[in-house]
Amino acid sequence: MRDLPIFVTMRERPAVVVGSGVVAARRAELAVRAGARVTVFAEALSDEFLGLKEAQNFRWSARDPAPGDFERGSLCFVATEDGPLIERTRAMAHAVGALVNVADRPSLSDFIMPSIVDRSPLVIAVSTGGASPILGRMLKARLESLIPASYGRLAELMSGFRARLSTALPSQTLRRRFWEATLEGPIAETALAGNLEAAKTHLAREIDRWVADRASPSGEVYLVGAGPGDPDLVTFRAFRLMQKADVVLYDRLTDERIMTLVRREAERIYVGKRPDNHELPQEEISALLVRLAKVGKRVLRLKGGDPFLFGRGGEEIETLAEHGVPFQVCPGVTAAIGASSYAGIPLTHRDHAQACVFVTGHGKEGRIDLDWKALIQPRQTVAVYMGLRNLEPLTQAFVAHGASPDLPAAIVDNATRRNQRVVVATLGTLAEKVRKSDLRGPSILIVGTVVTLRGKLDWFAPAPGENGPA
Ligand code: SAH
Repeated sequence: MRDLPIFVTMRERPAVVVGSGVVAARRAELAVRAGARVTVFAEALSDEFLGLKEAQNFRWSARDPAPGDFERGSLCFVATEDGPLIERTRAMAHAVGALVNVADRPSLSDFIMPSIVDRSPLVIAVSTGGASPILGRMLKARLESLIPASYGRLAELMSGFRARLSTALPSQTLRRRFWEATLEGPIAETALAGNLEAAKTHLAREIDRWVADRASPSGEVYLVGAGPGDPDLVTFRAFRLMQKADVVLYDRLTDERIMTLVRREAERIYVGKRPDNHELPQEEISALLVRLAKVGKRVLRLKGGDPFLFGRGGEEIETLAEHGVPFQVCPGVTAAIGASSYAGIPLTHRDHAQACVFVTGHGKEGRIDLDWKALIQPRQTVAVYMGLRNLEPLTQAFVAHGASPDLPAAIVDNATRRNQRVVVATLGTLAEKVRKSDLRGPSILIVGTVVTLRGKLDWFAPAPGENGPA
């Protein structure tokens, strides 16, 4: 993120505008609307300023700005092509600690002007960090068409009840539930339809009802598969649940870009590898889920890939069910499926494999307990999870149990992420090649002749992580 989005309170704050054209007029207009004390410095004012001249908080000065015109903490908008004037203005503003925006010149600006969707008090600002104002404006146009004009009314209605609700429902979590329930129901519809008085009456009644019912927030657990890493592979449902959570439990398989999709205010609890190299034991994680849900929290348990595929999701819901905690499970794209697409290796193919099995390569001291006879079958692909650390004994075991050392095999490391790496070899050569590549995992091992298709399909594989938000 290049710039920090904030909304600055402008009431009574001085704002200086330099320029006489349409851009200067728009800047002045926004500042006037936000209640700033606006002074425009321009030889003459174009017709664009017509509507502004009457405003109480608007002044015009026909001279160039001078040092005394700038105040600490004020904002200065420059919209002129006059290079020396731009430089002088910046110097004067900076001398007293004022912030400057120069139209269309992000490199000369202390802040940039976003594209704005104004449904006051609801305001949406869109920025491309100066990279492409046109893109920002296109997005603004889309948002304009998506968000009903009456949303401002809804925000106003809510604002009028904030103080009263704080007293009536002291629990912040409960207040949030109240608004969520209200905003999805008929009261919001009434306000959006323009009947503000009726909406107010209903809202007051609804608050009384919640107080009378002594409502307390009820907890729930969302067991959510977040996919292998690329945020674009998160499902809509997962995203919705991520936005509802009060607290999130995540581990080392959760990509940091996925975490940016979780409700910002949600408390975060890391249950993955700790400094002493131990994960929180599974029973403790399950107990924590129960404890948090019992105090009324919406608990998001984020899982890499899919929660029910080598994710121990089954154990977690067993504990939840035992304790009567309500839960939902949301599937995710499992690592082998993500790796397959993003590395260009189809797991089945008419000419190569009619079956694919997912197994775990996790084993103690190199002893890997797998049904080798079932695994080593012609026209079958094997995807091995958790196999990187045991790669050498694993590939040797394949061969010892009858697979050809020439059978193609690949490792997809950090599948779908920006740092995805793919190593293609055979059962006989893979371990050595991977050792030289110094891969850190997580990695998926794919064994089968489908691996030879990678050369042909490589072109069409999506670039890892490119599609997700940065
Ligand atoms: N529930 C997860 C798997 C958890 S087991 C899923 O459905 O994907 C952990 C193993 O998953 C890792 O050891 C690795 O084999 C695999 N894995 C998870 N994320 C991966 C990724 N981005 N790239 C490659 N393998 C991954």
